Amino acid sequence: MKKIIIIGAGITGLTIAKELSDKYGESVLVIEKEAYIGGLAATLSQDGFTFDLGSHRLHPDYPQKIFTYLKETLGVELLKMPRNGALHIQGKFIRYPANIFNFLKVMSLKKSFILFTSYVLNLFKHHPKDVKTYEDAMLKTVGKKIYLSLYKDFAKKLWGIDPSLIAVEGMKRRNVTINLKSIKKALSGKTGFFFYPKHGIGEIAQKLEQAVLRNHVTIIKEAQLKKVFLDNEQKVTKILLKDPSGKETEIEASTLVSTIPLDSLHQMIYAHDPVEELDWRGLLLIYLHLKEPLDLANDTFYFPELTTTLGRVSNNNKFSPFLNSSIEGVFLTIEIPSGPGEKLWAMDETQLIDMCSRELVKTGICKSPPTILNHFSIKLDKAYPLYSVGWEEKLGRIYNNLKKIKGLYTLGRRGLFLHSNIDHAILQGIEISSIIIEGHQDDLFDKKVKEYREFTARD
Ligand SMILES: Cc1cc2nc3c(=O)[nH]c(=O)nc-3n(C[C@H](O)[C@H](O)[C@H](O)COP(=O)(O)OP(=O)(O)OC[C@H]3O[C@@H](n4cnc5c(N)ncnc54)[C@H](O)[C@@H]3O)c2cc1C
Repeated sequence: MKKIIIIGAGITGLTIAKELSDKYGESVLVIEKEAYIGGLAATLSQDGFTFDLGSHRLHPDYPQKIFTYLKETLGVELLKMPRNGALHIQGKFIRYPANIFNFLKVMSLKKSFILFTSYVLNLFKHHPKDVKTYEDAMLKTVGKKIYLSLYKDFAKKLWGIDPSLIAVEGMKRRNVTINLKSIKKALSGKTGFFFYPKHGIGEIAQKLEQAVLRNHVTIIKEAQLKKVFLDNEQKVTKILLKDPSGKETEIEASTLVSTIPLDSLHQMIYAHDPVEELDWRGLLLIYLHLKEPLDLANDTFYFPELTTTLGRVSNNNKFSPFLNSSIEGVFLTIEIPSGPGEKLWAMDETQLIDMCSRELVKTGICKSPPTILNHFSIKLDKAYPLYSVGWEEKLGRIYNNLKKIKGLYTLGRRGLFLHSNIDHAILQGIEISSIIIEGHQDDLFDKKVKEYREFTARD
């Protein structure tokens, strides 16, 4: 019998698998290229340590129905944790999420005055309506002086290219600017909180996996989608999988839901007619087990300046006291934005560990060079969509070609080239499964995708 095949066992793929298999049971099949499930929101274990692929948390502003789904439908145990982030700027730590008032604290009175005046004057300045780049948008919103002092290097570090080459979506997709809400929050003095699954962010994927397995769904791990076959009417008929031993298997498909990077999928189907690839940003993850306790009690440290290589450092124990609770010392996750072809990406683990160790001391997270008891590292390719100038045209060509294929749905963070969060992944899984169940309503699917393009990611 032909299967409904879902490619990718991340949160989107597993949610859609759960929802579809609630109705169609074993007709659903999930294919995952890794040995683990959860995709970017996986929790892994090594040498007795449990860790996420980078700092993940559930933000309190997710729609209530997502929390109900997590807790009541899936049975995920959520902890409410205080948010106690710290932003390293000009050699000092300030509160994060930060706003203009926090920034002004680390500046001299003179610099604060100059920045504040420039911000106010900028409000009355005439700016062109048609803003195309991140740089133009920031100049319009916060003015030249604040942009150069606080945002330019951060954008360059995060995305690896000059902000004049980043499209305006690079700002829209992340809530980084000053607005009335941020000012009100700053004045209230509240630090906020977040939710986190007791056993790591991967608990969401684990609960979804349990639900699909109960519905008799097969999840084939360590198998990569390699090819999609179409008939004369451009309808999906079967797929080709490859396992690590090189063995290839063909499976007949009635419907194909893909959550893999959109351009990779396009390349498989239109290898004879290639188009320009999308730009992505990778992430280096370094995990350190330190003997000594930290000097600072924060859960996460952010490093926006180019003078520091570290991007974000998380103290895992502050996310859930149930994780790595039996280890002595501290277990840190260090994130460094980097990608294939870059110097940092090519460094070996020893070089990376040395550099991290030095920077932990330089920034004041550690008092003296830490004793590293254990370490490992992971490279995440295509972790973030990079909205470089011209991305919409490239995406349009790819999406419009794939749209012609009947029985194919491409979804999720990398499947739609969307800088998005876990709540968005769950929402897509729930909504698109119901569209499929109600009978392949392509117009409705396109309408939903347009809605998803308005998502804003929180950090
Ligand atoms: C560093 C980092 C921090 C984040 N922090 C947060 C946070 O704090 N809060 C939040 O809500 N969100 C956060 N996110 C976003 C969140 O992780 C994602 O939105 C969500 O996990 C996306 O799920 P997905 O299923 O759409 O995609 P993915 O997780 O990308 O899943 C796609 C799956 O497809 C598989 N795959 C790829 N190619 C193939 C192939 N050829 N064949 C078979 N399988 C394939 C992959 O292995 C993967 O499992 C963060 C993301 C990153 C990178």
